[in-house]
Parts: sequence; C-alpha cells; structure tokens
Amino acid sequence: MKRWLLAVGAVLAIATATTGTTSATVPPTSEPLASASSPAPDTTEAAAAVETLDVGTSVEGRPITAVRRGDPAGRRVLVIGVIHGDEQAGLDIVARLLELPVPDGVNLYLIDSMNPDGVAADIRTNANLVDLNRNFPYRWGPIAEPGNWEYAGPSAASEPETQAMTAFITELRPDILIWYHQDAYMIGPADGRDGVIRSRYAELTGLPLESVAGGTYTGVAAQWARNVLAGNEPVPGVAFIVELGGTLLPADAELHANAVLAIATEDN
Ligand SMILES: [Zn+2]
Repeated sequence: MKRWLLAVGAVLAIATATTGTTSATVPPTSEPLASASSPAPDTTEAAAAVETLDVGTSVEGRPITAVRRGDPAGRRVLVIGVIHGDEQAGLDIVARLLELPVPDGVNLYLIDSMNPDGVAADIRTNANLVDLNRNFPYRWGPIAEPGNWEYAGPSAASEPETQAMTAFITELRPDILIWYHQDAYMIGPADGRDGVIRSRYAELTGLPLESVAGGTYTGVAAQWARNVLAGNEPVPGVAFIVELGGTLLPADAELHANAVLAIATEDN
C-alpha cells in the first residue's frame, strides 16, 4: 500500500525556499510517486524547491509529514525531530534545517515529529500509550503493559506511526538517518563508517560519545533502520540517535543543524 503521497505546492512559510512544483524525487528502489507537475524543472529550480510528502497518520488522525529540500539527486539524509512526544528539543533543530541553505549534493528530508499525538499531549508514548521506540519490527519483544514507560505495544509495528515510518524509510533508503531524543546528552559509539560519522557529529556538537543504559532495547527504531539500511548500495546507510540535554538553546539548535549539514556534506 502506498503510504506517502506527494503534496505539491507546500503550504509552508519558509522564507528562504521556493515552494516547489517539481516532481517527487523517486528513490531508486521505489515505485513512482504521484505527482502533479508536468515539465521537468531545471536543476537550479529543483535544488531550491521544497516538497511535502505525506508519510502517514497518527492514532488520533494527525498527519506525519516530511519536507524535502535540496538536490533531488543528492545524498539522502533524513532527520526525525521527535519520536518520544515529551522530548521536543529536536523540533528546534528541524526548524533550523528548514531555513538554512542546503549544501550542494544533499537531498534533505525533514520530519518534525513521527509522534504528533505524543507531542500534542506532551507524553513519551503515542495515543495508545505505546513507546514507539520499542515498537519497531526488528528484534521486537513484548515489554510491560500500557502505562509503563517502555510498553512495546501488542505486537511488532502495531502502531500506525511505526507502520508509516517503516514504509517511508524502506522506500527512501536514506544514507544518513538521525533521530533526536532527550535528555541523556550523549551519542552512543559505533564501529565502522557509522562510528566515524557519529564521532564527527559528537565532535561538532560537543556531545560525549557514551553508551546508553537503563532500558530494555527491543523494537528500537534506529536498530531496525540500521538493519534495513545495511542493504543500501554502494555503502550501507547509517542510522543513529542523538540524545540532547534537557534544554536546547537557540545557539545549540543552530550548532546541531549545522552538524547535520556537515556530516551530510563530508566524504564519509
Ligand atoms: Zn527518547
């Protein structure tokens, strides 16, 4: 089932970007997306264009939307501002990424929140009280009951938000995927290219490279994504989480947004 449709002519007040009438960027593995455009735009116009993509709908019917910016042929970088609804600092980073110039060679996808119900209620879980970061269909296991902070849902990918994101990411196959959390203030280390990129992000933002502890880590979104993106060609995609602190100053949001663009641009 097609889960994301192109909405051409984004109703977004983004001062630095031109509202797009371009056709969708079709990831190599995807089927064609619906498009309302006719002639292909020139490269300059395409690079400046903004498109909105309908990713899915939450339990309570709120839209989950991606905004695409930059070079349609560039490296696909996906940033998800919020998964836990009471950890909203990533919204400020996504807001900066909606405004900053996108460097050449970068195709930037921005999802402010994949848990809009949780944001609206200022709770960690979705409206079914499921921790979406324990609901992904990779090494999923039952955890606890509704009301527990890590309740994993009745089954793997039981939640519409999880289903929307797994379909979107599987089709898009980003090369770099970042999920923001709070408030452990760290980035977990890793091996290989993944580890190099995480170290660089940590260096650029001042976050310490430390391992997270204290939870049950089944059905975790980034682990699911790494498993999927391992199949990317010519190199496996990278997915990692960034644990911000309890608060994020505007200057820090700027710092993180620029770090995203830096790792997206660097030869890594
Ligand atoms: Zn979190």
